[in-house]
Amino acid sequence: MTHAVTLIPGDGIGPELADATIHVLEATGLDFEWDVQSAGEATIASEGTPLPDRVIESIRRTGIAIKGPITTPVGSGFRSVNVGLRQALELYANVRPARTMKGVETRYDNVDLIIVRENTEDLYAGIEHRVGLDAAESIKIITRAASQRIARYAFEYAVRNGRRKVTAVHKANIMKLSDGLFLESCQQVAAEYEGRVAFEDRIVDNMCMQLVQKPELYDVLVLPNLYGDIVSDLAAGLVGGLGVAPGANIGDSAAVFEPVHGSAPKYAGQDKANPTALILSGALMLRHMGETAAADRVESAVRDVIAEGSTVTYDLGGHAGTRAFGEAVAQRVAGG
Ligand code: NAD
Repeated sequence: MTHAVTLIPGDGIGPELADATIHVLEATGLDFEWDVQSAGEATIASEGTPLPDRVIESIRRTGIAIKGPITTPVGSGFRSVNVGLRQALELYANVRPARTMKGVETRYDNVDLIIVRENTEDLYAGIEHRVGLDAAESIKIITRAASQRIARYAFEYAVRNGRRKVTAVHKANIMKLSDGLFLESCQQVAAEYEGRVAFEDRIVDNMCMQLVQKPELYDVLVLPNLYGDIVSDLAAGLVGGLGVAPGANIGDSAAVFEPVHGSAPKYAGQDKANPTALILSGALMLRHMGETAAADRVESAVRDVIAEGSTVTYDLGGHAGTRAFGEAVAQRVAGG
């Protein structure tokens, strides 16, 4: 079977990371048909937009995309490509795993979290207005439909990936109506999974403290948009920062996989940047496609090469280039 995938190499370090990632994914022996679509800085000059319609049409056709980082031009009036994709394709779940890796320096050695963030509403609906000169209001939207949808995604992820527990994170003690509805929606969905996946809830401030004190107690977290944004960065920090953090934006008919970091323009074209986050985003993509064995092989190859330590990039204390790291991972994938 051939997997048709839209490939958006992106800006800055993106194309180099994409080359290394394709090499690793193809080393699994799976058959891919890459529909390469440029987006970002280059297409602003040639097509007048960083997100041409052809990119969205391609993802609608393939249902799946892997994407390098894209430079967001400051003050140009163009909306972010990521926001554009999320809205056009209704990518309602942002999923970020955070797992410690031997060889990546951190304070913890036992973190294995999946952060599931609601991606469409909450304070990020952007409904704000000024009230006179000296006050402003921002409206927090929480609906039962979106809250149940994200909770169901979190539980289904747990079932598919053998995870034991989902924790809903909220501030329902203060925002009794909005966060209260989020919590109630999660509880309703949790009841459908009783006996299969455990459920608990935590107030967001306590959750942050617990994550830095006892991250090993937690498994899958499900959060509304704002808390999810903050807690997912906190979780990335627990395991070594953005350079190794993969991510996914998932909808019912399309999914886009991308690293958490940006386009690091100062390293563009230097064969220097670390492709780990994009390669691990590729592993998430394989998992999403149901290619679980291939995903496991890619993840363990990345972990092995980083733990072994002789072929890692500068940010992990090594001297290898992007290409050499990708090659080392690809060889292990092919060999294992
Ligand atoms: P950045 O993540 O691009 O870079 C910050 C620093 O982190 C870099 O200077 C580098 O030292 C390090 N770094 C990042 N990725 C690395 C990698 N793979 N390997 C080694 N080191 C790495 O953040 P920034 O400088 O704030 O943003 C640059 C551009 O990227 C901006 O235009 C921003 O809007 C964009 N951006 C895009 C995305 C995305 O497309 N998803 C996400 C974040 C930022």
